Order: sequence, then C-alpha cells, then structure tokens
Amino acid sequence: MGKKSYISFLFLSAIFIFTAYSIGVNQSALQLKQANERLASLEEQLKIQSMNEVENVEQLTPELTEDNNENQEIKQLKEKIRKLKAELSKSSSNKEPEKKVFLTFDDGPSPLTNEILDILKKKEVPATFFTIGNMMEQYPDIVKRTYDSGHMILPHSYSHKYSIYSTFDSFYEDLNKVEEVYKSILGFQAPSIVRFPGGSSNQTSIKYGGKDYMPNISADLRGRGYSYVDWNVISGDASPISKSPDQMLKQVISGSENNKFVVALFHDIAQNKATVKILPDVIDYYKKNGYTFRSFKDVTEIEMKELEKRGIVNKPVVR
Ligand code: ZN
Repeated sequence: MGKKSYISFLFLSAIFIFTAYSIGVNQSALQLKQANERLASLEEQLKIQSMNEVENVEQLTPELTEDNNENQEIKQLKEKIRKLKAELSKSSSNKEPEKKVFLTFDDGPSPLTNEILDILKKKEVPATFFTIGNMMEQYPDIVKRTYDSGHMILPHSYSHKYSIYSTFDSFYEDLNKVEEVYKSILGFQAPSIVRFPGGSSNQTSIKYGGKDYMPNISADLRGRGYSYVDWNVISGDASPISKSPDQMLKQVISGSENNKFVVALFHDIAQNKATVKILPDVIDYYKKNGYTFRSFKDVTEIEMKELEKRGIVNKPVVR
C-alpha cells in the first residue's frame, strides 16, 4: 500500500467511525427523547388521577357537613344500632363451640415432673396430674410445687397394681390410701375426681375381678359421688412408639384434628424423655389451632357435662 492510499484509508476509516458514532448518538438521543415523552405522559395521567381524587374528597365533604348537623335523636339511634350489631356478632361467635384442651400426666410424680413443670411455666399453660400415692410419698416437694404452680393434682392409685381390681374392698383400700397421702402432703381433702389405672375400659382387670368388674366398680364409684376421667387423645408415651418423639407428636396431632374437646394422655414417669421433648411442640400446636388450655382445678360444671357427653368423663363401661 502506497503512502497516499494509506492516508486515504485512514481518512475513510475516520469518516466511517464518525458516521457510525453519530448514528449511535442520534439513536440514544431518540431513545432518551421517547423515554422523556413517556414520563411526561405518565406524569400527566398521575396529575389527572390526583385531581379526580381531590374532586372525590370534595364530593364527600357535603355529606360530612350534613352529618354534623343531624339531630341528637338520630345520633343516639345510630349508636344503638352499632351496639346491637356488636352484640349480635358476639353472640353468634359464642355459638361456635370453643376448642379446649386438658393436658393430663399420669403415674408421677418423678424427677421428670420438674422438667414438665418448667415447660408448662415457660408456655404459661395449666395441666392436670393424676398421681400415684407411693410416688407422692417419695417426692412430696414436687407434689407441692405442682399444685402451687397452678396445676391440678388428682388421685390415680396408691400402688398402681392391677390386683386392686380383685374386689371392691381391694379397690377402695388403695383409693383411700392415695387420698390419705394426698391430704397429708397438700393439707386438704382430695377432690372426688379420679382416673382408674389403665382407664375405665382396661382389659387387665378382667384377669383379677372378671368381665363385670369395671362396669360394677365404675357404677359403684359414681354412686359414691365420684367422677372418673378417661382421655380421647393419646401420646403413646407408655407404648413402644415412645422411642420415636416424631411419631408421638404425629399421633397427638392426628388425634386432635377435628376434635374440639381434647383430654390428652401423657405419663410423667422418670424415663419418659420423649414426653419432655415433644411437649413444647404439642403446646404450640394447640395454641396455633386456637385451643384454650384447661385443667381440672377450675373445671366448670358445663365443661364436665360436655366431657361426659363426649364419653371422656363417667363413660359407662360396657362389656
Ligand atoms: Zn396409670
């Protein structure tokens, strides 16, 4: 390439680059212009909208002025209607049966009870403990702590031996003994609400007192003015699934679904670490699902009737 043609090549290249650059700049300028126009049109739309809103507010004002001028009587009527409406919505919500849960712990007290009490305190919920007399004698301070923390203690059995189901005498001897221990520790007579070892429908009693023993003893106990409490949700902490806390939690939840009145059964025996492990989650589940936590310390007559209706309290034992 000669010097001349090299210079003209450079010159042409310069022209080409400049032209390309100018086109690019123009294009950007065009885009900028378009964007600005769009922004202006958006601003205009916004302006129109806010003007409409101002107009709307202005349209509302005459009504407000009229309201201020309305006489006292109309104001009082309006207030009455408002109150009636509030009452109506309140009474219609009362018709919905409230969800309630009674957490119950059997066969304690034991050192585990202290851990359970700590959780209940942290979560601020009450519970009921159906205790064993010979354990109460071993841990009187835990019994007192339980009651003083706002929870209920009710008699379960003195010995928790199924041989108590041999005769009426053997049953009442055991019951009287746990009631004596109860009074000696807490200083007052035990209430007449109990839980049978194994529950009112237990089959083990048949081995001792025969097929009719539970139907007969439960009717006799009722005749003496007692009530007995069973359960309708089990945690499984006294069964082989106590090895799996996850399975226990699932069992409690599945038993509580569509169940507005829950009496859940746990055991505060020393080795039940899984019970302590799942208890916070169990409580959170009931809280999340709108349950009120209740105990037999301040159970109402209406609640006892409801529990009876649902076969949790004083369920007739049929063989
Ligand atoms: Zn028991």
